[in-house]
Amino acid sequence: MNKKGHVLNAVLLGIGLGYLLEPAGDLTTFRTIVEIGVPVTLGAMVPDIDTAFGKHRKTLHNLPLLAGFIAFPALFGNLEYVWIGILTHYVLDVAGSKRGIALFYPVWKKEFGLPIGVAVSSKRADLMMVVVTAGELLLAAAIVYRLPPLLESGRQLFGL
Ligand SMILES: [Zn+2]
Repeated sequence: MNKKGHVLNAVLLGIGLGYLLEPAGDLTTFRTIVEIGVPVTLGAMVPDIDTAFGKHRKTLHNLPLLAGFIAFPALFGNLEYVWIGILTHYVLDVAGSKRGIALFYPVWKKEFGLPIGVAVSSKRADLMMVVVTAGELLLAAAIVYRLPPLLESGRQLFGL
């Protein structure tokens, strides 16, 4: 997926998550969109820094990096939500483009992808981004609304 796709995915995800967690559509909703959307968008741009430093789709496209950003807020008290941006970047690269990513790099250099991917330069790349984003928001909605016992732990996971 290209940079435009990753940024649009993260912005749409931030808006959707804002409405999922604060559905009133008032100032609290807007505040939640900004609170979540800004760090998610920053996180979504992190993996492709490896186009300049390291090996693209390997150095900053792996699960150890994601685990580090998930653990960081608990350890140091900031960088909440950035991990969601990194995760959605991986999902878009795995599901939305032809070439996969090296999830277990540097231990295992194999790149994992799905056969449904489209070429980064394809006209269908934007459509694929929207489909992936909608799927992510449906999953988030299921976590927030359909699984009440998980609601409290889900909110805690998102830091709310
Ligand atoms: Zn990428």
